[in-house]
Amino acid sequence: MTPKLLTITKEVAMALVRNRLVRAEDLPHLLHNTYNSLVKLTRRPPAPAPVETPKPPPAPTWKESIRETYIVCLECGKRQHQITVKHLRTHLMTSFMYRKKWGIPPDQPLCSHATRRRRRETILQSQPWEARRRER
Ligand SMILES: [Zn+2]
Repeated sequence: MTPKLLTITKEVAMALVRNRLVRAEDLPHLLHNTYNSLVKLTRRPPAPAPVETPKPPPAPTWKESIRETYIVCLECGKRQHQITVKHLRTHLMTSFMYRKKWGIPPDQPLCSHATRRRRRETILQSQPWEARRRER
């Protein structure tokens, strides 16, 4: 029994008696019912059990998405050597939109480190600037 509920029960019963809405012989029953009703009203429902939801893995940053042999598309998680315009079209995006959304600098190639190195070596071996000079 809580003192606060007893006080409220007493006040309710006294108000009913004062206004002659209850007979003296019904008073014990009234006190009992009023108190039990107040207890039910103040009883809190049991707290629901915390739902264990598996946390999704954190989205990789664009730097983490570029690996040695592959690059992870930040939209779908697909691994590939490079993120092509054709692939970005499946996400209804352009390269510009993709870079802007994920904060990728415009000078960062959307390909794996190995693919970037291989392209660089190919360009250095073919020396297109020398070929142009020879044509003149
Ligand atoms: Zn994708």
